[in-house]
Amino acid sequence: HLYGRFRRNSLGINLNDPTTLDRLMAELASAMGRQRQASPLISGEAREGNGRVVRDPSDRRRVVGTVIEADHKATTEALAEATSVAPGWDATSVLGRAECLEQAANLLEERQVELMALCIREGGRSIPDSLSEVREAVDACRYYAAEARRHFAIPKRLPGPTGEYNELALHGRGVFVCISPWNFPLAIFTGQVAAALAAGNTVIAKPAEQTSLIAALVIQWLHEAGVPSRVLHLLPGEGPAVGQALVADPRVSGVAFTGSTETAHAINRILAEREGPIVPLIAETGGQNAMIVDSSALPEQVVVDVMSSAFNSAGQRCSALRVLFLQEEVADLILEMLMGAMEELRIGDPGRIETDIGPLIDEQAKARLEAHCQRMDQEARLLYRLSLPEDTPKGCFFAPRIYELESLTQLTGEVFGPILHVIRYSSQQLNEVIDSINRTGYGLTLGIHSRVDETVRYIQNRVQVGNVYVNRNMIGAVVGVQPFGGEGLSGTGPKAGGPHYLLRFATERSTSINT
Ligand code: GLU
Repeated sequence: HLYGRFRRNSLGINLNDPTTLDRLMAELASAMGRQRQASPLISGEAREGNGRVVRDPSDRRRVVGTVIEADHKATTEALAEATSVAPGWDATSVLGRAECLEQAANLLEERQVELMALCIREGGRSIPDSLSEVREAVDACRYYAAEARRHFAIPKRLPGPTGEYNELALHGRGVFVCISPWNFPLAIFTGQVAAALAAGNTVIAKPAEQTSLIAALVIQWLHEAGVPSRVLHLLPGEGPAVGQALVADPRVSGVAFTGSTETAHAINRILAEREGPIVPLIAETGGQNAMIVDSSALPEQVVVDVMSSAFNSAGQRCSALRVLFLQEEVADLILEMLMGAMEELRIGDPGRIETDIGPLIDEQAKARLEAHCQRMDQEARLLYRLSLPEDTPKGCFFAPRIYELESLTQLTGEVFGPILHVIRYSSQQLNEVIDSINRTGYGLTLGIHSRVDETVRYIQNRVQVGNVYVNRNMIGAVVGVQPFGGEGLSGTGPKAGGPHYLLRFATERSTSINT
């Protein structure tokens, strides 16, 4: 068990089984009515203050809880505590650290309904997406626990050509700041924190301001699972206030960040300009992800995969499909089928099982997409726009749409929502398509639909992206199975849920003994 492997991914529950679903819906109904609170949690002590009311993005009249944001004092105290216990936590046995995370995984799995309820009400996530979040969070805890055992438990023995004993050991770097996004309020939050802890770091977690309640619940359960309260702290608050102060502090030995490319650049600048140690930034940022569909592709499969890649989670995944390249011979057929499929999409309350698309996270997200659509209405061709049903609740809902573009240069950056852009290409233009994707500078996900192996390999070897998906959808990377993360403007690597992730959270020390 010292070498305990990551054996299986969390199975979740079967939403297709009517009895299971009925039970889940009843449990969810009561959990969704519960109000929650988040506050700065420093060494297990919750700080007081004025609470900000959190409202459900799918119905702004519904209050989900309150958040007390961290002030300067809380930030300073968290830094002092996390710094003072960092050497001790790194020195605890790796097995002990791994066991805490495994126990946390069990708790998250047992109490999944409460987590799902918050994903739905605070994060606007659909029921299937909420279940996937729990599974991913559980997987992250178990996977990083196993990875810690594999890499950290026993130093690597190295050759001793001159008769010396040589070894290479991995250690935590110190205090890690984890800054997580609202679009995976549970999975990414838990993944970052679990990885940093597994590698022997103390952690200050700064969740997205839109989804602090869920973060607070996870932290509470991680403590309950055995992670010492002085090792793991929570600072809810706005990025420019709390995140910036943390990153600028020279006691911070590393930053894990998932969010926009712009913010990753800003963090990089702060780290570069501050005094103190030179530390890593692990950034997972945006994408302008494309799917290339050639004339040999199976249209029915393409439509199913485009629908989920572009519109699942209301397009609020960094992995989501933004630009669909259709070979001209099949473009009309596929577009017609796509529009038919879009007509069937159900938008509404994510707490209902029949909902395919829930709300956007907030009014700002909606305003950004509306501004994009205004420009597209002038510069591109609107092919389809789903009309929102009359009884759509009063929340941040946004009608999915498809625009046809002439060229990828018409997009100026990531469009984070349920908007699909389509570009037709001829077989002679495949290289141009590949070059245009690479020229965006992003490199996160790529979809390929083709039944010609040479075409698949040709594209796969030329597009510079982190995750390629062939003849399937291009979202939903699974921990330990599809390590996830991009390159270029999309992130620094290493990939989350992959065998090299923990190493970046660690520092290497070699010892050479004259025996
Ligand atoms: N890992 C997620 C997926 O594969 C995307 C993560 C994100 O959107 O930040 O869909």
